[in-house]
Amino acid sequence: MTERVVIDNAHIATVDADDTELPRGHVVVAGNRIESVGAGPAPEGLEGVTRHVDAAGRLLTPGLVNTHHHFYQWLTRGMAQDSNLFDWLTTLYPVWARIDEEMTYAAALGSLAALATSGVSCAVDHHYVFPRGAGDLFAAEVRAAAELGVRFAPARGSMDLGASDGGLPPDSAVESTDAALAATAEAVDRWHDPSPGSMLRVAVAPCSPFSVSTDLLREAAVLARDKGVRLHTHGSETVEEEAFCRERFGLGPTDYLESTGWLGDDVWMAHCVHMDDSDIAKFAATGTGVAHCPSSNARLAAGIARVPDLLAAGVPVGLGVDGTASNEAGELGTELRNAVLVNRLGPHREKALTVRGALRLATMGGARVIGRDGELGSVEPGKLADLALWDLSGFRHSSIADPVAALVLGAAAPLTLLLVDGRPVVEDGRLRTADEDRLARLTRAEARRLARLAGLTG
Ligand SMILES: [Zn+2]
Repeated sequence: MTERVVIDNAHIATVDADDTELPRGHVVVAGNRIESVGAGPAPEGLEGVTRHVDAAGRLLTPGLVNTHHHFYQWLTRGMAQDSNLFDWLTTLYPVWARIDEEMTYAAALGSLAALATSGVSCAVDHHYVFPRGAGDLFAAEVRAAAELGVRFAPARGSMDLGASDGGLPPDSAVESTDAALAATAEAVDRWHDPSPGSMLRVAVAPCSPFSVSTDLLREAAVLARDKGVRLHTHGSETVEEEAFCRERFGLGPTDYLESTGWLGDDVWMAHCVHMDDSDIAKFAATGTGVAHCPSSNARLAAGIARVPDLLAAGVPVGLGVDGTASNEAGELGTELRNAVLVNRLGPHREKALTVRGALRLATMGGARVIGRDGELGSVEPGKLADLALWDLSGFRHSSIADPVAALVLGAAAPLTLLLVDGRPVVEDGRLRTADEDRLARLTRAEARRLARLAGLTG
């Protein structure tokens, strides 16, 4: 018999096409899918109910989708504290070049734990540092996501443009073009699950225009389309990147990426801060998506992305925390607030992004960006049961009448429950699928081991 979970009495923000909200509604989950959503209590007499949640004082939203991250950076947080992107990268590349499989596994657990406890049910990771002889780093993060039970979209990254070829990373941190392509193809063949309801979809993800050769970009796009998987990279993050592209290729980042086959509705790029009207029009015309990372952009003084203009043009936009070396908290829940605040500092001021618009970015927006809006991103019958039930009953939120405003503008809200594929991953604010104290010890030990290996400590 199908097992059912019934949630009653919740304020439900469905994030459907009409932004329907049900002030005291119910959701019935059957197996790994949402069976019904409606006003008032759930129908009586349902069979196979294994759990009944009285969600009074709670807000139910779709599970959040994090569209950009670098899990391994969990071990290098708090470094290069006052740098811009290029200085930050050149400080950290030599440290990252020492990561191994156990470090990657620990860092992925830490990153995923921070995401899940902040409402994320589906997480992208962009991993692009593969030191020779370091072990199977991609498998390590797949193992971590499976253990925690988070829906996963690992993007097999790569860098082949070392300093001796005019790139930014040191030669010790890059792969050869052929090795990167072969390993990327192998990762897709081994791990990508295209089936409906998939818990694991792989993307192809050379790192950025200043760390990857033109050949690798071009060949990676061909590879991804041959295999039927999505493409992800960084684009237009800083003025320094734009200057690099203009000097080396005679083109801005968007035109350069377009020339290598990197615009399309199967592509999403992180940041897209420094875009002119023509760049935005190209993204809109091709359906290329954007992972907006407001905290990271602020931390690295990159600038403010033109999110209101991107949205007005019809560009798919999701939210991302980015790697935790540039966003130490690594929580997507608080990124909704930061998206509203940062965008209101731009030219559109208070009209830049609404509170509910921020929730949409983090849910349907993210699902669209990763090509899964048919299955994820809203609370509607037939969709996968990835649901976040936020506890707004405590003193931090209870005096705010509008639950969505309490979530987006208020303090980081604890989760009563996070369901992923119908299974509980977080309950009463704590991870259910891992021991948080063990995670704290493990990630600290691995961060210290990395610092020692990189010569930062004795
Ligand atoms: Zn990034």
